[in-house]
Amino acid sequence: MRTSDVFELLRDGQPRTRAQLAETSGLARSTIASRIDALMRLGLVAPYGGGVSTGGRPPSLLALNPLAWIVAGVDIGATHATAALADLAGTILVEHRDDLDVALGPEHVLGWVEGVVADLLAGQGRSRHELAAIGVGLPGPVEHSTGRAINPPIMPGWDGYDVPGHLQRAFDVPVLVDNDVNIMALGEQHAHLPDIDDLVFIKVSTGIGAGIVSGGRLQRGAQGTAGDLGHVAVARAGEVLCRCGNHGCLEAIAAGPAIARGLREVGVEAVAGQDVVALVRSGDPRAVQAVRQAGRDLGEVLATLVNVINPSAIVVGGALADAGESLLAGIREVVYQRSLPLATQHLRITTSQAGERAGVIGAAALAIGHVLSPEYIDNATAAVG
Ligand SMILES: [Zn+2]
Repeated sequence: MRTSDVFELLRDGQPRTRAQLAETSGLARSTIASRIDALMRLGLVAPYGGGVSTGGRPPSLLALNPLAWIVAGVDIGATHATAALADLAGTILVEHRDDLDVALGPEHVLGWVEGVVADLLAGQGRSRHELAAIGVGLPGPVEHSTGRAINPPIMPGWDGYDVPGHLQRAFDVPVLVDNDVNIMALGEQHAHLPDIDDLVFIKVSTGIGAGIVSGGRLQRGAQGTAGDLGHVAVARAGEVLCRCGNHGCLEAIAAGPAIARGLREVGVEAVAGQDVVALVRSGDPRAVQAVRQAGRDLGEVLATLVNVINPSAIVVGGALADAGESLLAGIREVVYQRSLPLATQHLRITTSQAGERAGVIGAAALAIGHVLSPEYIDNATAAVG
């Protein structure tokens, strides 16, 4: 049994004694002791109870020490960016958000990331050496294995750019990069659905995409494009031209700009998704109806996904999620009608609770998942002897 296996027993944050760890793992107490010693040298495991000793005996409970290392989570959107520091439990310690146009290019945007992360560390009284990893979400397709954006439509200058390489010039730590909706799925799960192993997070905004967590793991697929639901064909989209060049995509009729365009065609003034949301909130019946129809279109694609992967939760995020019940009602209508009763019996369909913070929480969770992985823990403990 490896050191990481002992660490896994403590990852839930519950304190345990050495005897309990030996019993659960089936390892000899001497083996447990040496594994725990290695983890304590790394600072990852510490005596639990803050030194409240009774009768002069040292505290016998051990627990994960979430403040041993710090990670940075960075959520880069189309027009804004957020960077945060988190402890190993994923608790956000401090964060900073700025308006920032991703089209300014990688040198400019990643320069902002370097500066803000350095400032946040200094503000926490932490050195660069205490930073363990950086997680980054980008608003475009990302090849996860290399951390490079590939042909991102709204990110001029980023195609193929080595994001980890850039940030590692300033911070000598692992840099994990993923697309924005994948990190939102992780963030929602981490912050609000920790007991849910199978969920779909669908972002409905200027575009449409989904992050899929199945069996407790984010599913990226072979190249990292899994969950690209915006360009699935739906019947009602017919011959409508999509920005991807194809006809009949879901995004071409159900994303924010498409709903706004539909409203303009019936004489309602709306340009973007935010206008649609404002109209729904003001009770405009045409906007309510248009959003509900978009919900049904989304539901058509989601029903297929429900049949394929049987999630226990569908979470709707992105700007259009603020249209709330109107959108959810359309989605529920079709999903419940089109999926097997067994699949929908306990299926929850809700809007995101993490909201616009889902991305930064998820970026931190991505970094934490890496540094607390068995491979990383075993390498780190081997390095400290
Ligand atoms: Zn398309």
